[in-house]
Amino acid sequence: MLALSGYPLGVQCLFLDRSADAPGAQVAPILVGELTDSALLEELAARSDVVTFDWENIPGSALEPLERTTRVRPPRAALEASQDRVVEKALFSKLKIPVAAHAAIDSKEQLLQATRKIGLPGVLKTRRLGYDGKGQFVLRDAAHIDAAWAAIGTTGLIYEEFLAFSREVSIVGARSAAGRTVFYPLSANTHEGGILRYGIAPLANTKLERSARKYLERVMHALGYIGILAIEFFVVKGRLIANEMAPRVHNSGHWSIEGCVTSQFENHLRAICDMPLGSTRALGHTAMINFLGKMPDRDRLLAIDGLAFHDYGKQPRPGRKLGHCTILRKHAKDRDKALAEVLSLIDST
Ligand code: AMP
Repeated sequence: MLALSGYPLGVQCLFLDRSADAPGAQVAPILVGELTDSALLEELAARSDVVTFDWENIPGSALEPLERTTRVRPPRAALEASQDRVVEKALFSKLKIPVAAHAAIDSKEQLLQATRKIGLPGVLKTRRLGYDGKGQFVLRDAAHIDAAWAAIGTTGLIYEEFLAFSREVSIVGARSAAGRTVFYPLSANTHEGGILRYGIAPLANTKLERSARKYLERVMHALGYIGILAIEFFVVKGRLIANEMAPRVHNSGHWSIEGCVTSQFENHLRAICDMPLGSTRALGHTAMINFLGKMPDRDRLLAIDGLAFHDYGKQPRPGRKLGHCTILRKHAKDRDKALAEVLSLIDST
């Protein structure tokens, strides 16, 4: 999606991925190998004016040498902060962005203490390499402590209070090297099993949007950020509690391809390539629905008026994001009707 948005701008992409059939390989040349392979990274840097990433589990040490020969954007500090949930929460707290009560856990004894101090229910998560609900265990009561420890017990964990949120929302924004910022309207996100199932945008809530922008701007400013940054929040009693950030184009911003004047992908490229940022104005009311685990019946979906279909060309695997579709309507109630139709069609495939 980055490469596709780059074509009209004259931006050519070159990818590095562990797999030769990565989605990017369908639309741009690719180097295949480990993301830590220094020869491949050197080649990538030599052939590029700017290096970016759309996955946050790349070791910072792989990017460090590239900084000497080319520009790496967003900055490595943002990547590294997003890789460890405890470091990330410390950054949010330093910037006065509310987070859930939490504790770093390296032993079962510490987990026991944390459940007493923070309370139950709670969520035990791996600090690193966790995404889409992977490496997580919800502890409903004290009887779950043993099971949680048996499931993911190791060092490098975090225990968080379980938040009874009314909604999950996210904000996506872009910052240029000169410090100019633009923000997309808020997206309201529905997760199932820890994975984003669908999102609707714009969520018309001026108060939440104002807070979300303020928080995102604070993080961007603190990190000297360049590119697209997303923060996911829980809404608890009408207030935002930050869950995590993503220093990259974000799934909850995919709706912007059809739903906004300038997509998040284009604005990411504009930001990292020092072009003026584009308008983030929404063109109507959208819903973005992920295709998880298996592809739906394409032609039945395409028969829905104005539906945009995105097949990433990935091999199916349970829970894997294989594509998405977006619907754009003039009125929110028509969008909601079309969303229900799409969800039931996907479920019946
Ligand atoms: P994460 O990997 O942190 O984004 O978590 C995936 C999903 O699990 C979130 O989008 C929530 O739906 C749920 N979740 C994670 N942490 C919490 C929490 N502290 N309280 C309630 N739900 C949570």
